[in-house]
Amino acid sequence: MIQVAVTDDDVSVDQSDILLKLHEFHQQFEIPVSYFIVPFQNNTEKSISQDTTLQKALDVIRNDGSEAHPHSHRHHPFEWGYPEISGAMEFSNGLCKAFADHRFAVEEYQSKDRMFARMGEVVSEWEAFSGEKPRGFRPGWGSFSSNLYAALAEFNYEWSSTRFASRSSWHRCMGHPSEDVINERVGLMPYMQNGLVEYPILGDFGFHANNDAQEGLINLFKQQFQACIDVGAPCVLCHHPHGLEAVNNDPGSGYAIYTEIFQWLQDRGDVEFVTMSQLHNDWQAKALPEPALVFPEDYNY
Ligand SMILES: [Zn+2]
Repeated sequence: MIQVAVTDDDVSVDQSDILLKLHEFHQQFEIPVSYFIVPFQNNTEKSISQDTTLQKALDVIRNDGSEAHPHSHRHHPFEWGYPEISGAMEFSNGLCKAFADHRFAVEEYQSKDRMFARMGEVVSEWEAFSGEKPRGFRPGWGSFSSNLYAALAEFNYEWSSTRFASRSSWHRCMGHPSEDVINERVGLMPYMQNGLVEYPILGDFGFHANNDAQEGLINLFKQQFQACIDVGAPCVLCHHPHGLEAVNNDPGSGYAIYTEIFQWLQDRGDVEFVTMSQLHNDWQAKALPEPALVFPEDYNY
């Protein structure tokens, strides 16, 4: 059986209705989902542990076999390192400028002390919200750094799901051209990073997509799903409620894309939908490689 882990990012404070809508959507396919929930928000002092309605929604999804893990702190792009560079360049020129213009403040914000303190807040908030110590983590914006992994190790995390195995789906969703390749520097297979198991994200095929891109995105998914099969890797999908809704593009286009993808996966008969915890239970015992450090001095910029 081919393991598929459906994950969803960005649900946060005062969004229990969104979580329950997502849950209802996945229940029609009987798919368990791993939700990555943002603990704090900039625009309110309220945090997820003070949101009793969200806690009740968490109980509902857990009763049906889904689960939740912490996603970032406040979801600032610089919280855990610098975002995936092509993502930052494609999605937000302002983010690139902010990094150039405020470099020293950003570096101070990303120092080991600041990052450890931030992760400490995430862990205590998550325990208060969910009643469990977090085992897995996903940063926002694909941001990462060695300090992030040091903080994850310090707080006894076991796995992360941070890196983009391919940038193609994101680029295609934004209407940009894409070479449709798997990034060999990340790859599709789980691997070790600073003692944690990293589960690379294949992509999000319904991220604020236009309707005229739907067929291309579904075909891209099928092609990249085959790439997972070819190397024996699990498939980690990552969608977002705001991306599914696509309110600024073609409303609901993300739901339409994933409806077709989920039906196609179910019709195959060889797919096992798993949570990230189930995935980790299976993969943690395997001997996984840790990538070597390679300084890119030979790159022709
Ligand atoms: Zn996010």
